[in-house]
Amino acid sequence: MANRVLIVEDERDLSRVVAYNFQKEGFDVVVAFTGDQALRAVKEERFDLILLDLMLPDISGIEVCRKLKANPQTSQIPVVMVTAKGEEVDRIVGFELGADDYVVKPFSVRELILRTRSILRRADASTHAPDRFELGKLKVDRAAHRVWVEDKEVALTALELRLLVMLYDRRGRVQSRELLLDEVWGADTDVTSRNVDTHVKRVREKLGPAGEYIETVRGVGYRFRAESDT
Ligand code: CA
Repeated sequence: MANRVLIVEDERDLSRVVAYNFQKEGFDVVVAFTGDQALRAVKEERFDLILLDLMLPDISGIEVCRKLKANPQTSQIPVVMVTAKGEEVDRIVGFELGADDYVVKPFSVRELILRTRSILRRADASTHAPDRFELGKLKVDRAAHRVWVEDKEVALTALELRLLVMLYDRRGRVQSRELLLDEVWGADTDVTSRNVDTHVKRVREKLGPAGEYIETVRGVGYRFRAESDT
């Protein structure tokens, strides 16, 4: 089945070019010209990925992202932000809200399609996650709750394992502290984002040489390396 992409972009020429190229690559494409149209579209149809321009004529792309990520029906859809130079602050807010990637205008449509494919592959891999996985020095059996680093077993608490597995399943994508709080601890928690740092630190220490697979993304959160590089 073809992947369905929602392109949210008010610049007609640009949305036409992007839509054309995605269609040529076999994607099903829907275009929304305003934030409001985008939010209505996701209520009516299922999408595999949303390409979201941050500067929209009605509500901002950031606000659209916030609404998408706050709704359990749409929170899992990967969002790629389309930003302009000088929108770094919005980009950081977008990541905090759970956006997956961004491109800066003017961007190469070809590169955008490559990135989209890679995000979709990872999203697919995490929904069909196998019980066991191995990456470089790290081996995890999530069903048996067991972790090994360089074939030596490491004892993680249930929460630490959940944190590790969540970062791994979304490897290559930045996860904000807030998102980790929600997903690992659950929404009703007294835990603060500082506690997230403490837990990540502990997991890293326990993983020893494999601890470096969890990277810190300054000001935003954490990212599990896409590849072990070793
Ligand atoms: Ca725009």
